[in-house]
Amino acid sequence: MSPDSPDGDYPLWHPFTQMARFEREPQLVVAQAEGNRLIDTAGNEYVDGVASLWANVHGHSHPHIVAAIQEQAARLQHSTLLGITHEPAIELARRLLPHLPGRSRVFFSENGASAVEVALKMAVQYQANRGRPERNRIAALDMAYHGDTLGAVSAGGEGSFRDVYEPLLFEPLRFANAYRYRCDRCAAVPACTDACVDTLRDLLETRGDEIAAVIIEPRVQGAAGMIVAPDGHIAAVRALCDEYDTLLIADEVATGFGKTGAMFACDLEGVTPDITVLGKGITGGYLPLSATVTTEEVYEAFHGEEGRKLFHGHTYAGNPICCAAALASLDLFESEDVLARVRERAELLGDLLAERIADHPLVGEVRRQGLMTGIELVADTATREPLPPEREAGWRVCLAARDRGVFIRPLGDVIVLMPPLSIEEDELAQICEAVAYGLDRVSRG
Ligand SMILES: *Cc1c(COP(=O)(O)O)cnc(C)c1O
Repeated sequence: MSPDSPDGDYPLWHPFTQMARFEREPQLVVAQAEGNRLIDTAGNEYVDGVASLWANVHGHSHPHIVAAIQEQAARLQHSTLLGITHEPAIELARRLLPHLPGRSRVFFSENGASAVEVALKMAVQYQANRGRPERNRIAALDMAYHGDTLGAVSAGGEGSFRDVYEPLLFEPLRFANAYRYRCDRCAAVPACTDACVDTLRDLLETRGDEIAAVIIEPRVQGAAGMIVAPDGHIAAVRALCDEYDTLLIADEVATGFGKTGAMFACDLEGVTPDITVLGKGITGGYLPLSATVTTEEVYEAFHGEEGRKLFHGHTYAGNPICCAAALASLDLFESEDVLARVRERAELLGDLLAERIADHPLVGEVRRQGLMTGIELVADTATREPLPPEREAGWRVCLAARDRGVFIRPLGDVIVLMPPLSIEEDELAQICEAVAYGLDRVSRG
């Protein structure tokens, strides 16, 4: 069976992939990865422009993380956290918390969606345990993405991620997101009016006593198309949650671990959420692990009689090898000034985008927070008219970029760039060159 020419033999069913298309297209079979590059079975190298789906932080095959994984695997590969404990999980919680001021408890799972589910269950049970069971609804942003399990999809936005599964889902109360490029409220005026935040105020005013928690993707709504909220948005949501006495859940699965230029997006505005969800980059992008981190106040509501406990837990939650990888990743954050380098690289990325990409006739908007970048393609930059989906422009730009040695993956007609924090200057230039090349190819037809 050759993966280069898939035939009836090909046994995999890929996530979020139309297999009919997959079978038609040239395939990238990754054999190895080093630094910020993926290497395929034919020996071709590709700059990893999306950090292996927003997870990789310090580059691939980093000797410090590899050694930590090997050592931990030889000592204790797995033991449960259901009622007993182990040192890698304890140490990881201790080492994470100083990066999360105001928070004191860490609940581990294995992926972002699960950690979101935990946050939603915690919020509803927190209210019930405090004698407010009628506060059992979740308020969520329009176009939100919180993962693919049913609770996480429920909290997510409308559209194809959701429609077919609707009978299995709960319905959140929605409020407007800060999508300035396509915002009816303030696209026409020079500065953002924060009118989207007023929709949350209205919701809390009318239905606040039904709402257990407000969930947001702070600063950047990733899967929605790298939509960057204006400075002050997180703090405004926090203030409303305080005013109406409801919990704030910050889903930092995409934004966490440096990609925004701060360790966590909430740090950009000095906000402490009641519940913080971490995933993707937590192990440096090496192994599956996630965490739901809470304040002492949230934790306290579960403390006491048997029936108050959180009814949740996965078999591999807090797996020691995953924790060891996460600890090694934190070592690197603490021993090298990673965030300073990210801010420097992000500035260079901004310059490259302005020089090579922003003025291209297919490009409606370039938006960016730190290294998290969205390039929204449009049919007409004046009217902002979207491209016809059947043109598959985003996908074709990314496919063309492979010919220039860059791997990227779009979100519809938004080209996403989210390289590892360890990306080098010449690699950033290569990514932008490849996108510019892809744009030219696609505009030629
Ligand atoms: C990716 C993502 C998730 C889901 O994480 P998985 O590990 O894929 O389950 C949740 N929330 C946000 C904001 C994400 O970007």
